[in-house]
Amino acid sequence: MSQNVVVIGGGPAGLVASRRLRDLGYTPILIEKEPMLGGHLARWDRLFPDGTEARSVLKPMLEDLDGIKYFTETEVLSINRLKDTWVVKFSNGLSAQVRAILLTTGFDLFKAEKKEEYGYGIYERVITNADMEAWFKSGATPQFDDVNVIGFVHCVGSRDEKAGNRQCSKVCCVTAVKQACELKERYPKATVYCFYMDLRMFGRKFEDLYLKAQKEYGIRFVRGRVSEVSEDIDGHLFVKAEDTLFGKPLKIKMDLLVLMAGMAPAAGTQALTRMMGIQTGEDGFFLPQSIVASPCTSSREGIFFAGTATGPKTIPETLGEADAAALAIDRYLKSLEK
Ligand SMILES: Cc1cc2nc3c(=O)[nH]c(=O)nc-3n(C[C@H](O)[C@H](O)[C@H](O)COP(=O)(O)OP(=O)(O)OC[C@H]3O[C@@H](n4cnc5c(N)ncnc54)[C@H](O)[C@@H]3O)c2cc1C
Ligand code: SF4
Repeated sequence: MSQNVVVIGGGPAGLVASRRLRDLGYTPILIEKEPMLGGHLARWDRLFPDGTEARSVLKPMLEDLDGIKYFTETEVLSINRLKDTWVVKFSNGLSAQVRAILLTTGFDLFKAEKKEEYGYGIYERVITNADMEAWFKSGATPQFDDVNVIGFVHCVGSRDEKAGNRQCSKVCCVTAVKQACELKERYPKATVYCFYMDLRMFGRKFEDLYLKAQKEYGIRFVRGRVSEVSEDIDGHLFVKAEDTLFGKPLKIKMDLLVLMAGMAPAAGTQALTRMMGIQTGEDGFFLPQSIVASPCTSSREGIFFAGTATGPKTIPETLGEADAAALAIDRYLKSLEK
């Protein structure tokens, strides 16, 4: 008889791992707290580095759910160890007794309003990278008639001790460059600035996108932090920054400012940590047994991780880890039968 495995979080990691577990002969019980499966991928429009449509990546994940018991708008109420199993109670009244649980709870976008100096939630023309994706996805252009000068602020809530996160969120440099190019296609005459600390274009073809942004789209890259944003009487923005390469203070009138909010641990991470007696790192993400040698295995027997639940990752990295976690669970469950 096939064994159940509980998978918590129905984003790309949870979907791909569930399918892989099903293909290996298990019956995954996939729990998603939101009304829809798909996680953050369902919110993105076109993906870096090559503009692949997010929906074309998500569609096959959602089409092949045969053999997976999935429940949306469902959360975990309790998890308890009973002999060599875990007893999981869900908010929909169901429960499961399993030998393996996979945590694929992903990330939350850093709350940009916490960086008060940027005026997110106060000034209409200050938006986040996620708002920008929602605009692109809806096909709507920004509702402002004049979009002539646009700024992107990198590292919002990342690499920032004051925001409580020293780490790099990894995907926001390349997302800024991608979105800057996309805006330039919509507003060819606009002047677009990217304010960065340093550019982390680590992935395959990322550097090509950066060079294209400079050479073909004329995006202006300014090394320096934005220190203050204010609004004039017409609702336009005044952005103060320092160009640290030239040691020059800048004050630029802008029509739109896009904050590259970073990745923060998912809201329920601490509650799950307490229920299962596992650990999180200083950054608040789940901590595997070894971030080098066993990134999918927790410190407790039968608990596994995949995707951004253990820290910032791209979609290809997430999908690779989802497969790896399913194989690690298979190995673990087979080892119990010996
Ligand atoms: C602005 C932005 C743009 C990006 N663009 C790209 C791109 O172009 N290309 C690329 O490769 N990567 C991109 N990424 C990264 C990409 O979004 C992630 O790699 C991917 O979403 C990770 O998938 P995941 O399944 O680990 O997490 P998520 O997508 O966060 O999914 C986690 C799921 O778990 C659910 N969940 C959380 N907690 C619970 C709980 N307690 N109980 C039940 N369900 C729960 C959530 O609701 C969610 O559905 C981008 C990231 C950002 C911030
Ligand atoms: S990827 Fe770039 S914008 Fe994001 S935190 Fe790292 S350095 Fe900052």
